[in-house]
Amino acid sequence: MSGALLTDVSPPAAEQPTEAEWAAAVSAITRLPADGRVLLICHVNPDGDALGSMLGFGLGLRRLGVRQLQATFPGRPEVPEPFRDIPGLDLLVPATEADPDPDLVICFDVAAVSRLGDLADRLDRAGAAIVLDHHASNTRFGGIHLVDPDAAATSVVVEKLLVRLGVPLDRGIAECLYIALATDTGSFRFDMTTPAVHEMAARLLATGIRPGEISRRIFDTRPFGAVRLYGDVLGRTQLEPLAAGGLGLVWTYATLDDLARHGQRPYTLEPLIDSVRCTAEADVSCVLKQVAEGEWAVSMRSKGPTDVSRVAVALGGGGHRLAAGFTGYGTAAEVVDAIRAELVRGAAESGNGPADLQDQD
Ligand code: AMP
Ligand code: MN
Ligand code: MN
Repeated sequence: MSGALLTDVSPPAAEQPTEAEWAAAVSAITRLPADGRVLLICHVNPDGDALGSMLGFGLGLRRLGVRQLQATFPGRPEVPEPFRDIPGLDLLVPATEADPDPDLVICFDVAAVSRLGDLADRLDRAGAAIVLDHHASNTRFGGIHLVDPDAAATSVVVEKLLVRLGVPLDRGIAECLYIALATDTGSFRFDMTTPAVHEMAARLLATGIRPGEISRRIFDTRPFGAVRLYGDVLGRTQLEPLAAGGLGLVWTYATLDDLARHGQRPYTLEPLIDSVRCTAEADVSCVLKQVAEGEWAVSMRSKGPTDVSRVAVALGGGGHRLAAGFTGYGTAAEVVDAIRAELVRGAAESGNGPADLQDQD
């Protein structure tokens, strides 16, 4: 990419769902036969927005009288510990038990079919498919698209659809949507935390849910083993002030052996990037999480100047300007070498423009 294409790294102006798309989604749901079977799917390795949006909408469908209802996500059926008290968990089934040919499939927080894993075939086999999402990079798979790249979380789209379906918020739905909204806005800290986001939070809180208790459970509770694991992994963090065109790179890695030594599951490492990215001396932060011998799930963040999605895409992944990821292969040192090289290329080709996208998932 040449310097002249500097502005092209930003997505085009966000397109909102049209009235026709909203109407198609409402009609696909309200015209289901009485015994219609609905399958809800969120993305692999679900986060708070994926699970909260899916289960909150599932509880809403249940209030509408939909009885044949399953919620699922690809891969291991294990729900990460922080979400083990989220309302609507009784809707969840392992992917292996998901209805093979439902009347209606609804996807939540899924930007591309690849994030549906083995469940992607349900899109072809279902009578209809609705996609609720907020990723600018959404590939518009499925039939009916409710994709709002301006939404801070998929749960914003979910709430709008519930309103159109005439489903009132109750405490269960509200807790799910609050977890989703709080997760994707970094607890209402990121730029996309608009007045409308706070207004939605106010509607959710008005149902009587307890934000302090929810936040403690979702964000501020970790087993002691995880605290020790974080100590080990943060203790080997490296700062390279000259990397990323002089903006600075900070990085660390966690191995399967680290997890085993402290008796922890891989999802324990998801918040680790937040403890690394606060480093004042670096714009770019990375955490490499080993998933197998020679294979790493890499999380990248930028405070603004660096477009980490460009680095992630160049290395086979994706994401947003300020939050992106990819799968890295080789040793940790080799993966960091590749990141360093892409950062040099990015800095040389584009200069460093201001951030224009939120940190979102
Ligand atoms: P994470 O660091 O896992 O929180 O992910 C940050 C952002 O990068 C999210 O928007 C993800 O969807 C995206 N992302 C992470 N890993 C990958 C990957 N392997 N391929 C594509 N996108 C990814
Ligand atoms: Mn999201
Ligand atoms: Mn997500």
